[in-house]
Amino acid sequence: MNATEILKLHEIKKTPGRIAIINALVNYNQPLSENEIKAEMQEMYDRITFYRNVQALTQAGIIHKIVIDNTTVKYGINHCDHGHQHQNEHAHFFCEQCHSVVCLEEVKIPEYNLPSGYKCTESDIIIKGKCKKCNQ
Ligand SMILES: [Zn+2]
Ligand SMILES: [Zn+2]
Ligand SMILES: [Zn+2]
Repeated sequence: MNATEILKLHEIKKTPGRIAIINALVNYNQPLSENEIKAEMQEMYDRITFYRNVQALTQAGIIHKIVIDNTTVKYGINHCDHGHQHQNEHAHFFCEQCHSVVCLEEVKIPEYNLPSGYKCTESDIIIKGKCKKCNQ
């Protein structure tokens, strides 16, 4: 699926900025930070539009935000081949050496037994270490 088809499938407007963000994530096939996407977009990058587009793409279920720490935030593409569902909550791996982030789609987020009265709306798992390449 190309960027135009992805936007159409999720029923949001096609803009050059949104297409550029999706293309960057699809081409790299791994989550990217704002700076990494910016490098791909080159002169098309604009800070305010970037944030608006990221928000629109997140709300539409096209991308997800991965917060590693105060300084590292990455955006990953959602894969919706299975009947267009986005409940695919998965763990993420952060490589401390090359700072790459990988979506571990096969590692599901467990359901925790919370004390009574608590309701979970979101739970993230970030596993840190060395990626396959750096661990060689
Ligand atoms: Zn979808
Ligand atoms: Zn690495
Ligand atoms: Zn992910």
